[in-house]
Amino acid sequence: MELQIVGCWAPYPRTGEACNGYLVKAGQTTCLLDCGHGVMSCLGKYIDPLEINLVMISHFHPDHYVDLYALRHLFRAARYQGKKVGPVDLFIPEHPQEQYQYWQAVPEFTVYPIHPSARVALSGLNIEFYPASHPLPSYSLKFWTGNASLYYSSDTSAREEMWEQAEGADILLGEASLLAQDGELAYELGHMTTEQLARGALKARPGLLIATHLWPGFDSTILMQEIQSIYTGPAVLAYAGFSISI
Ligand SMILES: [Zn+2]
Repeated sequence: MELQIVGCWAPYPRTGEACNGYLVKAGQTTCLLDCGHGVMSCLGKYIDPLEINLVMISHFHPDHYVDLYALRHLFRAARYQGKKVGPVDLFIPEHPQEQYQYWQAVPEFTVYPIHPSARVALSGLNIEFYPASHPLPSYSLKFWTGNASLYYSSDTSAREEMWEQAEGADILLGEASLLAQDGELAYELGHMTTEQLARGALKARPGLLIATHLWPGFDSTILMQEIQSIYTGPAVLAYAGFSISI
């Protein structure tokens, strides 16, 4: 399995960069996980977007899905030019309902609802979904093959069961939207702090912790210090261009 980070910022990107967008590849599957602001303008640095044959949207906040409109048009143009045949599989939450219905009507995608704890098996790549804790229905996702696994928190406040779901994953791609001092605010907003993510990593013990969903205004040195003051296992802050094979 390979992970390529396209964008990691929230809720807006740094200049020339992108919000949440991650490529997960395994076997014949090339999955775009989330497609927030700027992802479309950065995707081409890492992949021919026409190679994407699966799209997963964790929830309908703009920093996770808004460039889906642009991706749709890229697929549409490719079909018109005869470069791409058939719609691409798109997994999305069923709520907000108007969003679900909108994408169902888009011919460039075949839409499937994300069902909690359902397992999707696609040519060598398995995916499981877990309800997150966020103001809008949001899902954590676990990707796994015979010998590799990746757990993505999506946007969520810290929840105990998440660390059990992520236990032993090769990669824990977890959001760290706020600083350690913002614990109360994090629960209010349905996000996690550096401290909450680091404490979770202590329980989940991933092969590698990747802190993502970072606010562009934070000092990355401070974010890393806060994480490493609690969690001393392998850890990095997400950045565009990061890639790893597991
Ligand atoms: Zn977000």
